[in-house]
Amino acid sequence: MGFSVTRKCSECGTLNRIPAKHLADTGRCGNCKLPLRPADAPINADAEAFAAITRDAKVPVLVDFWAPWCGPCRSIAPEVDALASEMAGNAIVLKVNTEEHPDLAAQFRIQAIPNFVVMREGNVVFQRAGGASRREMRAWLSETADRSGI
Ligand SMILES: [Zn+2]
Repeated sequence: MGFSVTRKCSECGTLNRIPAKHLADTGRCGNCKLPLRPADAPINADAEAFAAITRDAKVPVLVDFWAPWCGPCRSIAPEVDALASEMAGNAIVLKVNTEEHPDLAAQFRIQAIPNFVVMREGNVVFQRAGGASRREMRAWLSETADRSGI
């Protein structure tokens, strides 16, 4: 079985396994059969989740590289959460804790956090260090979507 993310049905509480390529789709709960919203919150990614989601997602992926000791990262977190909810179905938001996953931070040459990377079909289309408003993050994602013709 390939990589999947576990999501809880808001109606019956059943844990459903969602393959990376269907994270932005409205699904159906395996138990109660009611619709399952597309991923609407940031997903904490390890190396395996990161690789599978950035490769298989059918929508742009915003990656928030952060660390628990980083004040600006913590203060921006509610905006990142809100963005993930607002963009559900049109984008996926990943969070990478650079303390726990220094390998991923090194791969993207992260020297300062917060650091945002927008990926599309496994490729980096945008990267920026420093804080950002939700409006800016939304603009990065919609520009990415426009360029790839979705
Ligand atoms: Zn259910």
